[in-house]
Amino acid sequence: MSTILNAATYPPTLTKEETANLAIALRDWSLSQGLIIRAPTETNAADEASMHVPLTLHPSPFPKNLFDQALGLQTVFNELYAKVADDYEFLTEITKELAGVDDFMSDLWKLYLEVDEISGGVPAQPLTLGLFRSDYLLHTTSTAEPSIRQVELNTISASFGGLSSRAADCHRFLRKSGLYGTAAGSEFLKDENMPVNPSARGLARGLGVAHNAYGVKDSIVLFVVQQRERNAFDQRWLEYYLLEDFGVVSVRASLEDIAEFGELDSITQELRYKGRHVAVVYYRAGYTPTDYTSPATWEARKKMELSKAIKCPSLATHFAGAKKVQQVLIDELVLAKFVPDADVRGQLRTTFVDILPLDDTELGKKARTLIETCPEKYVLKPQREGGGNNVYREKIPGYLKALKDETLWRGYILMELIEPPQDVRNAIIRAGKVTEGNVISELGVFGCVLWDSKSHEIKQNFEAGWLLRTKFADSEEGGVAAGFGSIDSVLLI
Ligand code: ADP
Ligand code: MG
Repeated sequence: MSTILNAATYPPTLTKEETANLAIALRDWSLSQGLIIRAPTETNAADEASMHVPLTLHPSPFPKNLFDQALGLQTVFNELYAKVADDYEFLTEITKELAGVDDFMSDLWKLYLEVDEISGGVPAQPLTLGLFRSDYLLHTTSTAEPSIRQVELNTISASFGGLSSRAADCHRFLRKSGLYGTAAGSEFLKDENMPVNPSARGLARGLGVAHNAYGVKDSIVLFVVQQRERNAFDQRWLEYYLLEDFGVVSVRASLEDIAEFGELDSITQELRYKGRHVAVVYYRAGYTPTDYTSPATWEARKKMELSKAIKCPSLATHFAGAKKVQQVLIDELVLAKFVPDADVRGQLRTTFVDILPLDDTELGKKARTLIETCPEKYVLKPQREGGGNNVYREKIPGYLKALKDETLWRGYILMELIEPPQDVRNAIIRAGKVTEGNVISELGVFGCVLWDSKSHEIKQNFEAGWLLRTKFADSEEGGVAAGFGSIDSVLLI
């Protein structure tokens, strides 16, 4: 039984002319209100050119009770992942194993050990900031009511909080303008079902709170960004709100820039960028191997990790977001170590699907059998972020066999596929072109947490808005910039 609005009831049918008008209004609102992304070209002219973000024409339906559940769980997930990041032995065991089979994890791990040794096991900055995003898909079966299931929890560079607020505003504007028409289904499009999304200001508040905790007037927040980042405006909105709400200035720099202009004071451990004192380092780069273009970029990360600037996230927190950690936390006993309250644990576990290792343990052996007997129920994931890295269904056995050595399997996890409703319809507008189809939406909930890794005291912990990303049902992944998906907003039902 599905309580999701299906194609028969929503979205309201529009005439060709109504669709065209809606698309023009959406495009122009986006361009004028900063719901934009840089144009996809390699030339310098691209810096001057932007386009509207791929967006759904209508907000997609999402059950209100499950939305509230996801939002309510965020502070619990924040605390869980802060605790994981602080558990040196736990992370060492996992990361050491991954480092043996995955070059990128190995490089990050070497850096972690080096920083640990130089600082004598006492980090220059005990405070860490997490701007996390926990992602969910709706799971439906023929017998049960829909439920939310966690896809992953991002601890580094969780994106789209800046634009997500705008997406909700855009859909609210279109409704108020009467552009959704009056056909059957339009009755669901009510102001109270289309909540204002506080994600942009919420994430800025996380950075502001960390800046306050650092406590040095006129210090800056350093945004570590990728060169030629197309999603720069998503980041810019956090910068603007940080200035507006907290009076804090941000500076954007790539790892290459920081290699050249970043300085670590060897006595005070202060980090300076072009002479300015850095209070918070906010990573929107550094999560993928291609960000490290030279040994100097690794030196840049080391400089930041050694400094007393508050890192968002620290290296340990970056590791905590590994897919392997998510797999290990599926085990009730492991989870109990971090979440002693059985009730709370139960609430988290209702959002889990099965995830198995591909090692020599009993579970690993079970995973091998499952890959042979029913690969169509699984997705295989390496320890990577940023989309486009997973292997789906029947492709899994062949992919694994093609790896040069079975020990490399340990770098992957095998995750049960979540089964979202298949009968939801919407249209996506991308570069002005409207395409209709059956869609799948992924809800991300943002959370901010500031904690002291020495005393394990949580200083701030709050939920910070959400993101709805929507893709066509026939596409496996939903990367917005990569061209598969779009931003959306929620229609609560
Ligand atoms: P990444 O770090 O690349 O974002 P994800 O784990 O989020 O990796 O996977 C990418 C996408 O693959 C998700 O956004 C979702 O669309 C799809 N996906 C991942 N895991 C599952 C799953 N268990 N069931 C169904 N779809 C999934
Ligand atoms: Mg993801």
